[in-house]
Amino acid sequence: MERVYLFDTTLRDGAQSPGVKFRSEDKLRVARALGHLGVDYIELGWPGANPTDSRVFEQWALEDRGPAPKSRTVSFGMCKDPRKSISNDATLKAVTDVKADTYCLFGKTWDYQAKLLGATTDEYLTTIDQSVRHAASRGEAIFDAEHFFQGYEVNPQYALAAVKTAYDAGARWVVLCDTNGIMSPAKVRRIVADVMQHVPGSHLGIHAHNDRGLADANSLAAIEAGVRHVQGTVNGLGERCGNANLLNVISNLVLDGEFDCGLTRDDLIKLKPLSKLVEDVTHRAVPSNTPFIGENSGEQKAGKHVDMFVKDPNTYRSHDPALFGVAEKIGLSNQAGISNFLPHLNRLGLDTTKGNSALGTLVNALKQAEEDGYDYERCMGSFEVLAYRAYNLMPNYFDLSSYRAVVERLPANGTQSASKKFRLAAQATVEFLDCEAAIGAPEVSNGNGPVNALDRAMRRSLEKTYPELRALRLTDYSQSVINTHYGTDAIMQVRIVSFSPQGGEMTTVGVSGNSIDASVNALMDSYALHLKRLGVAPRSFGMPTQAGPRV
Ligand SMILES: [Zn+2]
Repeated sequence: MERVYLFDTTLRDGAQSPGVKFRSEDKLRVARALGHLGVDYIELGWPGANPTDSRVFEQWALEDRGPAPKSRTVSFGMCKDPRKSISNDATLKAVTDVKADTYCLFGKTWDYQAKLLGATTDEYLTTIDQSVRHAASRGEAIFDAEHFFQGYEVNPQYALAAVKTAYDAGARWVVLCDTNGIMSPAKVRRIVADVMQHVPGSHLGIHAHNDRGLADANSLAAIEAGVRHVQGTVNGLGERCGNANLLNVISNLVLDGEFDCGLTRDDLIKLKPLSKLVEDVTHRAVPSNTPFIGENSGEQKAGKHVDMFVKDPNTYRSHDPALFGVAEKIGLSNQAGISNFLPHLNRLGLDTTKGNSALGTLVNALKQAEEDGYDYERCMGSFEVLAYRAYNLMPNYFDLSSYRAVVERLPANGTQSASKKFRLAAQATVEFLDCEAAIGAPEVSNGNGPVNALDRAMRRSLEKTYPELRALRLTDYSQSVINTHYGTDAIMQVRIVSFSPQGGEMTTVGVSGNSIDASVNALMDSYALHLKRLGVAPRSFGMPTQAGPRV
């Protein structure tokens, strides 16, 4: 199998992403993770361009990276200024003076760009020749042929002469850059075939940008056409629409098995942690439908698919998601047939025999609720409540008859002072059916906000009859808008995560045009499910309980 060399430019070209700023410690963490993965080249940055990059090279040179680190460190910069000599070009000197294994210089292979620098094409060919020879005298040399494809389309003679000059001057790799992301796979294949008449594919690379959404496809097309070096970034970072996503390129190369990229199927498990690390340091989340590593990549949803999937998983998947550390899930949704529910319902011990009327009731209830905006996919607690209700196994523990929540903004310390000096007060009153007669009056509670006040008031009412609720803690709370185009009239979905030592963790959901009402619904599901999981039987309000004393 022919070898393809992997070149990571997350820390250089990826750092051009809008809003991304790597601190030197971030760069070192990502570089260590890339070394652990085993890519061939790690481009640490452009020494001299900013203080961070210069510091990273110093720190990296001092770091003990363990026995035989495979990855080569790359210092990136620009060919010399055509009007200066090598020894007089301080920018180039900063790039080639740092300790690195490889020096990667970019140069103009579009004649128009050379002209903008004030050089004739012949003068610029001399610039490339001298710069690459200088880099090769310091270590391994790479030439990044900037705007190569654009240049090739308008003046192929110059573009080809430029890459040939770099190769003849000693560049280990001449990298064809689709700087503006204008290529398609078919064009890449055609142009690479032509370039290979002048520079062997064993010395050619590809650097693709994603402006047309084709960077990954173009990279693979270039490899198929003969280049043996591919550049990309983790999570496809990069300016504008990003660079080729190196994780996708690696995954495709390894799964297809037509080329040896130095990594094996056992290394694929390292991709997700690397992606997460880059997510963390860039504060840019990877969408859940990202190929290979996104959480949706192992999820089956449509009912017919699931039927077949259960018989043979390979009927509806590209690859085994476990290779990437992604869990295989059978999701729930309004697209789901009965098959989707079976694993969840079986776990709850509910009868899932075909034709069971409770099962039919549940499917209809789920479809209706999802139409109303409920999302049970990630709120299995509320799904459990819905399922028990459909099977007539959910006791009616309580009936909330009314509630009132008031929020007030008051001057702090009783004075009308500056606008920021105020305090918020929230008070809630709740009434449960049959409860007030037993306890004498509606329960009133104060809280940090209306939801907190309602939670307290409801618990104070209910705990007198159900002391088991005292063990239930709310651990997370989030709100999202379902129909964003309605603005402040939007439908809100509230998700609540609760935990109790006996009942475990549960996520419940509430939906309403009013976020407080949605919260109340989600809270009530959590109370009821907690009691159900503990096997508590419904009790009459005001009656003494066996589980604990009445307060
Ligand atoms: Zn680039």
